[in-house]
Amino acid sequence: MDIRALFSRAAGHAAGFRETVDERPQRPSRDYAGSLSAFEEDLPLHGARMEQVLDELVAKAEPGLHMTTSPRFFAWVMGGSHPMGVAADMLTSAWGQNAGNHAAAPSAAAVEAVAARWLLELLHLPPESSVGFVTGATVANFTCLAAARGAVLREKGWDADARGLFGAPPISVLIGDDAHTTVFSALQFLGFGHDRVVRVETDRAGRISRDGFARALASAEAPMIVILQAGQINTGACDDFATLVPLAKRSGAWVHVDGAFGLWAQASPRMGRQTAGVELADSWATDGHKWLQTPYDSGYAIVRDEVAHRRAMTIVASYLPPVSQGERDPSHYVPELSRRARGFATWAMLKHLGQDGVIALVDQACSAATLIAERLVREPGIAVLNEVALNQVIIRFGAGTEKSVADALTQQTIRALQEEGALFAGGAIWRGDQIMRLSVSNFQTDPGQAERAALAIIETYRTVCSRHAM
Ligand SMILES: *Cc1c(COP(=O)(O)O)cnc(C)c1O
Repeated sequence: MDIRALFSRAAGHAAGFRETVDERPQRPSRDYAGSLSAFEEDLPLHGARMEQVLDELVAKAEPGLHMTTSPRFFAWVMGGSHPMGVAADMLTSAWGQNAGNHAAAPSAAAVEAVAARWLLELLHLPPESSVGFVTGATVANFTCLAAARGAVLREKGWDADARGLFGAPPISVLIGDDAHTTVFSALQFLGFGHDRVVRVETDRAGRISRDGFARALASAEAPMIVILQAGQINTGACDDFATLVPLAKRSGAWVHVDGAFGLWAQASPRMGRQTAGVELADSWATDGHKWLQTPYDSGYAIVRDEVAHRRAMTIVASYLPPVSQGERDPSHYVPELSRRARGFATWAMLKHLGQDGVIALVDQACSAATLIAERLVREPGIAVLNEVALNQVIIRFGAGTEKSVADALTQQTIRALQEEGALFAGGAIWRGDQIMRLSVSNFQTDPGQAERAALAIIETYRTVCSRHAM
């Protein structure tokens, strides 16, 4: 077996794809059904040569790939899988470390300890916090809320980690009405129930209203968990942490923040206004695979109280004193024991970008979002519905016409853009209206790319309108 030839071939395929992403139509050429029939065959009775399997995988998979890594991919909120992180991740796979504990994987455990410290410094979060390297913000929310659950019940004399929730004092959970769906999933996993929460009213941008929050706090009973948000999925809006966190703390609540992408504003002196006061919370969930551009999957569960974090995630830790100087076992901070050594890619990205590189990355995405919004609103009939405070833009076409006409024009423009393939963006419903959403979360979306995207959107909208008029 020629391992060098095999790995080089894989790297060659990878580079070949990435070098041409910008020129390709910005969408898959094959949908799910087509992809399924490409892969569909009976269980192979006999094996095949590795090079052949690799080439076949590429041939079958590539037509069904999204250009997620392109500077003009604006759908959902997805990072660009930066080549630096990808290269580190290739090594991670090749090294085959099991990042469960420091004895099984000394380097993997150590790199996490250092990357964790860097992340806390970069995001201006309390240095005593602990960090779990998880798959993404969904599991980060789950992990943080598990720590919260244990801590607020322990204060009432109840050990939920050992005894569970049956017979436990009921916990009030307050959450904004425009929170991300995955936070409700986390609540569901934890036995809180996704409907057994107090949903607090929000403003036009999706921010929790101060008065509504104060009222909800006043009528809720301890123990209490409050869930705030940095970066609403459509508008990018952040809750007013400087006001809400102290209010919640005064009521004795544990405050958790879902900051899957928005928490990265913290890194930037210019954008940090958006997240002012977020460091006062007790736990934070964020992603590496969104704004930091690490490859999938990568998320961080950050908890101020390390003991609460460890107690929630490990059986052993419940009976152990906190680790102060000792070795760090990655599995103490995440739900899994065996897992890939995600710390390598995070370390490589932070080392490659440096603090000023991360600041530039955050600022560039926000500037590009603003630039696109400014170009678009100059075109009659295009409205930007949000104040572009971060990297998200929500757009309505046929603005000023009847609702049903504008809904249809917006849908048609999204479809036409996807067919043309100059860029990729998707739709959503916001406050009852069809919108197109753009998330600028790729490291290559510079002003030139933003300009190009805005022009393509305007041109397509004009074509859709002329078709509509006929
Ligand atoms: C993406 C996102 C999540 C979920 O994160 P995953 O990385 O997909 O698990 C949660 N909250 C917000 C605000 C998000 O944008």
